[in-house]
Amino acid sequence: MAHNKESLFSHFSLGRIPVALLTRRLFTRCFDFILPPRCPESGKIVDKNGQISPQVWKNIDFIQPPFCLTCGKPFEVIEIASGGADSTQVPDHLTCGDCLSHPPHYDRARAAMMYNDSSRSLILMFKHGDKTLLNQSFGAMLAGAGADLFTHCDLILPVPLHRWRLLRRRYNQSALLAYKLHALTRIPTNPFILERVRATPPQGHLSPLERAQNVKSAFFISPKNAKKIAGKNVIVVDDVMTTGATANECAQILKKSGAARVDILCAAKVVK
Ligand SMILES: [Zn+2]
Repeated sequence: MAHNKESLFSHFSLGRIPVALLTRRLFTRCFDFILPPRCPESGKIVDKNGQISPQVWKNIDFIQPPFCLTCGKPFEVIEIASGGADSTQVPDHLTCGDCLSHPPHYDRARAAMMYNDSSRSLILMFKHGDKTLLNQSFGAMLAGAGADLFTHCDLILPVPLHRWRLLRRRYNQSALLAYKLHALTRIPTNPFILERVRATPPQGHLSPLERAQNVKSAFFISPKNAKKIAGKNVIVVDDVMTTGATANECAQILKKSGAARVDILCAAKVVK
């Protein structure tokens, strides 16, 4: 049977590594030698594109337990009257007052880091500055922060952008995170199930109530897509969780459309 040049080339291998892969690695090495990858924040040389330098990494406020098991808000450590590092009392397995008084539609929300001075510029570069390769670092952070959500998860869905905003920005940063999580966990992802049908104004300076009103009925799931999530455990991925209004609205329509469980996973969370 005759083989064309391409198929012969792709099947030829040195040991177990195909020659095509070796060639690509060689080109990457040469290119990296001429223009080494740099941390987008510090400008320091790093091993791979999209990596964050150790100097920047160590300043990030990663969210650690104890936190609210529903919304993921970190609890402050309550010091016992005598004070001192060894005399702290940590609340365990608790739900915060906000979640008790107003239970959200989602089941659990987790975030990798606090949205503050240490992470803001990284997030903004990723979201608005075309530094899309940051999804490599953010994806790894999300995989760690969401480890307890992946058990029995069937589907990862990104928070969608409205089509006009997607056209202007050219990419959906949440979809990039979802694809990276899919690569790390092998859990399927689908950016088309959850649709944004109403173009909502930016929420930067809105109050929690205004944010909730702003995203009201902004999302849609068609009957055809509802069949794909019926009875499924879903993780919704976003870049930043501020008041949780967007996450809540997504969870509400996903559950109305038949999802069994809806968890939220974000790169950063605003904690006030
Ligand atoms: Zn909470």
